[in-house]
Amino acid sequence: MSLLVIGVPHIARQELRPEESGQLLCVPGGQPPLWKLMDSIGSAGLRQGEEALSHPEEGLPRPSDSSELVQECLQQFKVTRAQLQQIQASLLGSMEQALRGQASPAPAVRMLPTYVGSTPHGTEQGDFVVLELGATGASLRVLWVTLTGIEGHRVEPRSQEFVIPQAVMLGAGQQLFDFAAHCLSEFLDAQPMSKQGLQLGFSFSFPCHQTGLDRSTLISWTKGFRCSGVEGQDVVQLLRDAIQRHGAYNIDVVAVVNDTVGTMMGCELGARPCEVGLVVDTGTNACYMEEARHVAVLDEDRGRVCVSVEWGSFSDAGALGPVLTTFDHTLDHESLNPGAQRFEKMIGGLYLGELVRLVLAHLARRGVLFGGGTSPALLSRGSILLEHVAEMEDPSAGAARVHAILQDLGLSPGASDVELVQHVCAAVCTRAAQLCAAALAAVLSRLQHGREQQTLQVAVATGGRVCERHPRFCSILQGTVMLLAPECDVSFIPSVDGGGRGVAMVTAVAARLAAHRRLLEETLAPFRLNHDQLAAVQAQMRKAMVKGLRGEASSLRMLPTFVRATPDGSERGDFLALDLGGTNFRVLLVRVTTGVQITSQIYSIPESVAQGSGKQLFDHIVDCIMDFQQKQGLSGQSLPLGFTFSFPCRQLGLDQGILLNWTKGFNASDCEGQDVVNLLREAITRRQAVELNVVAIVNDTVGTMMSCGYEDPRCEIGLIVGTGTNACYMEELRNVAGVPGDSGRMCINMEWGAFGDDGSLAMLSTCFDASVDQASINPGKQRFEKMISGMYLGEIVRHILLHLTSLGVLFRGQQTQRLQTRDIFKTKFLSEIERCLRPTLPPPLQGAFLSTVGDCWPWVVARSALEDEVGEAMTHLFALSSSLAPSDSLALRQVRAILEDLGLPLTSDDALMVLEVCQAVSQRAAQLCGAGVAAVVEKIRENRGLEKLAVSVGVDGTLYKLHPQ
Ligand code: ADP
Repeated sequence: MSLLVIGVPHIARQELRPEESGQLLCVPGGQPPLWKLMDSIGSAGLRQGEEALSHPEEGLPRPSDSSELVQECLQQFKVTRAQLQQIQASLLGSMEQALRGQASPAPAVRMLPTYVGSTPHGTEQGDFVVLELGATGASLRVLWVTLTGIEGHRVEPRSQEFVIPQAVMLGAGQQLFDFAAHCLSEFLDAQPMSKQGLQLGFSFSFPCHQTGLDRSTLISWTKGFRCSGVEGQDVVQLLRDAIQRHGAYNIDVVAVVNDTVGTMMGCELGARPCEVGLVVDTGTNACYMEEARHVAVLDEDRGRVCVSVEWGSFSDAGALGPVLTTFDHTLDHESLNPGAQRFEKMIGGLYLGELVRLVLAHLARRGVLFGGGTSPALLSRGSILLEHVAEMEDPSAGAARVHAILQDLGLSPGASDVELVQHVCAAVCTRAAQLCAAALAAVLSRLQHGREQQTLQVAVATGGRVCERHPRFCSILQGTVMLLAPECDVSFIPSVDGGGRGVAMVTAVAARLAAHRRLLEETLAPFRLNHDQLAAVQAQMRKAMVKGLRGEASSLRMLPTFVRATPDGSERGDFLALDLGGTNFRVLLVRVTTGVQITSQIYSIPESVAQGSGKQLFDHIVDCIMDFQQKQGLSGQSLPLGFTFSFPCRQLGLDQGILLNWTKGFNASDCEGQDVVNLLREAITRRQAVELNVVAIVNDTVGTMMSCGYEDPRCEIGLIVGTGTNACYMEELRNVAGVPGDSGRMCINMEWGAFGDDGSLAMLSTCFDASVDQASINPGKQRFEKMISGMYLGEIVRHILLHLTSLGVLFRGQQTQRLQTRDIFKTKFLSEIERCLRPTLPPPLQGAFLSTVGDCWPWVVARSALEDEVGEAMTHLFALSSSLAPSDSLALRQVRAILEDLGLPLTSDDALMVLEVCQAVSQRAAQLCGAGVAAVVEKIRENRGLEKLAVSVGVDGTLYKLHPQ
């Protein structure tokens, strides 16, 4: 059903059958023709009965005979092929200049990117309300569009058209949007369907700077509109505000597009892609799918984006000058926006009737037409409309119809007048179609250049009343395009529902994205911890610390390390060091003189060894040490050996540590409950490596604290955020049960990875944490670690991605085998993905971690003081950070590259969502870690009865070092 209504909502409206829609628009009840109605309210901003300020005929010599005068007039509207080619070339130049973002000289067209990144899939479905403003002159259209999602199965939309009173078109912006809200509810009142959850697509066809699918700022009014207070404003917000003020319906405005985009998007899917939308209605414009990498303002190198050319403003004097007539100059001079939209003023339907009127008035005054007579209507601007011109040119309407129209204008045409008037209409419209063809040829050339194709096969969707109602416009346009762009194979497809269907398509996509966003937010909400939640973690941690120190049941073991002091800087000598407990097993030679010199080598521990027998594991370790000694020329030397063994151990002395349980993927048999120093010594004996002298066993946190303490005496906390996570700190001996003595301090290995194993973190644990835990080799254990450390973050992200895919939010709902694979999503991807997003962010410890500590405990001075090599890594990070372009789209490209490498079929919306998932997971990890450190520093401060505490935290671990935030 198509309803065509003329009049403001509270006055008359009339239903026209489709076959009438090409006819002169009339109001019911014997009211005057539309042009008279328009006249009486001051059509198109021109006051009633007002004469042109200057007439084309003024100053012209009177020709000797009338046919010469007619010829002279019509000749002005003739354009040559060379002129059209010059327009085509000049417009193409302006388009490319605007795409490059070249500001000076200002390009003659704007080339505004829209937020439409792909043409429709054809599967979009649902009911949508479409509001069109600015497509069809002084009217506003509301449509109810049903998308079936089935190709070829179309449901006729319901629509209603409302004439916008002149006073509204030129009044305050709020009045215009209130009028729109009023029309909307009047239309909806008459619809029998459910009005729940209405989603609206706003077709707003004026030059706009779009910053989102539902955010668009009006640059300037065109097409006879000039409402105050709208330029520079977001028109979607203005519409939302008006709908809310009106209050009748709850409508969600989900997308805004212009009519060219609607025309292109609504095009029936044919054999070739429809990648150009052309509209010739009140004004004229086109959009097309450009390669995103060519649109400088987007900084995006993949995919395509729909660009609105905004060619109505094309105004190159060199190219347009030769085709401008005296009538064009008069029309421009008299318009609402003199000097602007010069190209549009030769083509758009708002102007064709006026150009015809100016020519007819000129000829009448010169005595060539109507026996030299004029009429007030003929001399009034806006009295001849596009519909009149189309009808007068239509051979099927016949001379009688021309006669009738001229009579309606108060003229008395003779038989020869009718033919002459038809010639004038033809001259004006032919030129319009030819100029439009030159512009379209420029777009086609651009497509061809952009895609580097010899021959371009493309479909162009055409829409707008000039295309639809003028009998010859489209055929002239097509013929001229073939002449100007012979290498392009173009098919023209008339738009469906005046672009309404396309707007509904875009709305459907936008609505889907909005729904997806809601699901994403819901999914990530449990990861976004607030201050109270973090304070609760700190309090729980503090409680568990105290219990653990007292030897009571606690998820924190609080293991004494027998390290009683941090270094004072006077230590000297050569040492061997082993580092076992993470991804890599390292053997190091540490030379302490006035500084510290470290030589190290990484050895792998095959999974079969890590999970084989204890004997096998320790033999392998000794083999590695012997290899290192040999390579360093140390064979035969007896150096003290320190063993950094980063698993939970109960230490009985500096060189005695009973392994409590394996973590981090290790599971060698016959080791738990054993003294690991003994196990190592036994292996040394088996291998007859007698020169190895094991003097101390330390945990990696202790090693980190000590090496940091060598440089900075305030370092009394060690923190590891790598494969696993753990912390140690200097506790007062009086608080440590089970170690004799009440004075002095001892370093306590917290083994905080196990924090929460008693259920105290249950309130923060998400279903994704539960899945990761269940799939691990130690379910129910190391709950804190599993929310924080490198071994698990990637897995948490993978589980979230799986969930979002199952909801249809990601990867078009397609579960891939790849994503089902455990550990496919590495924690390093989080760093890579997030690194580009905010390259100017401060370095580690000043991100979420520090803000967590700093927010609650401002007296804490946390400082990262790491081993030399770590310091280098951080310097490297700084350099890397500052060399990255501060662009979100760069990050998106990175996400895409990573996910595509994983074989995941993604769109740019997917990339953005994956990025947000990574951020949420790593942010929570850093915050939890921060809450833990806060508990530690607060305990140290209270232990010492201090008002303020200055302490340094020595931090190590690849996640900490390489994650950008
Ligand atoms: P370990 O803790 O085993 O001694 P590391 O400190 O090197 O070893 O930490 C290794 C962990 O760091 C791995 O589990 C890995 O997930 C994580 N990781 C590796 N590269 C990165 C990176 N670029 N960003 C964040 N995490 C990383």
